[in-house]
Amino acid sequence: MKKIQRKSLLYKSGVEYADFCLNHVEGCSHGCMFPCYAWQMAKRFGRVKKDSDWLKPKLVENALDLLDKEIPKYKDQINFVHLCFMTDPFMYGQKEVIDLTLQIIARLNKDNIRCTVLTKGVLPSKLRNVKIYSSKNEYGITLVSLNHLFKNRYEKNSAPYASRITALKRLHDVGLKTWVSIEPYPTPNLDTNQNLGKLLNSVAFVDRIIFGKLNYNVVSSQFKENIPFYEDCAKQVIEFCKRKGIDYHIKFGTQETFNKNTVGLFGRVCNPPISV
Ligand code: SF4
Repeated sequence: MKKIQRKSLLYKSGVEYADFCLNHVEGCSHGCMFPCYAWQMAKRFGRVKKDSDWLKPKLVENALDLLDKEIPKYKDQINFVHLCFMTDPFMYGQKEVIDLTLQIIARLNKDNIRCTVLTKGVLPSKLRNVKIYSSKNEYGITLVSLNHLFKNRYEKNSAPYASRITALKRLHDVGLKTWVSIEPYPTPNLDTNQNLGKLLNSVAFVDRIIFGKLNYNVVSSQFKENIPFYEDCAKQVIEFCKRKGIDYHIKFGTQETFNKNTVGLFGRVCNPPISV
């Protein structure tokens, strides 16, 4: 895998439910076709010249050195650090990425900085070791469908849905906090076999759910019932979460009215800390 150097790593994220964030890889072999916002931005700002470059991830080889410098600088401002919004920290089948991600989580946790993690890969069982990885971390998967035809078309290289859920459940079963990002949820003209109820039931064990619409997709925006469709989906998610006692946040723009009160869901530290 190619390596690159960066001048900085930690930054304050603009994503509504996030705090600090880092991206220790450039590119992502998952190659999602929703389209991927990070991929579009990398092309726009010339960080990748052609599409195939994005699919060959490059590791930020000085990531741990940067953390050594930046943690003392930002520690007092950080509530939690999210991995990642512009790449995937547990990229499916990419051992070097996975190993570096584990080192980064351990490094942050060593300074009592908790992490939220989001992947379309498989969360490693090693994360159950709370002597190395904090029990206050929150581990998440993205899951927008259970339809394999949809996956093959839009996120071909990511982990199979079942593997993602199994790995997440494994962490949940030892008492760790888990969450699911159902975003970007496709319109029915993109995923002709979708079933939101079934999807929600498949992850009913999690502590938090984020739900958001699909933006910037031509086919999705052609769906005439776009606004009422997402309104109904959001209501279904809220009703499900309330019934199951799951924290939730509906991303801004998904419903006509939005609830700012749920933005800070990751700001609330989960407790009590567990021992595994
Ligand atoms: S997993 Fe995320 S970063 Fe990777 S290609 Fe898909 S949307 Fe982009």
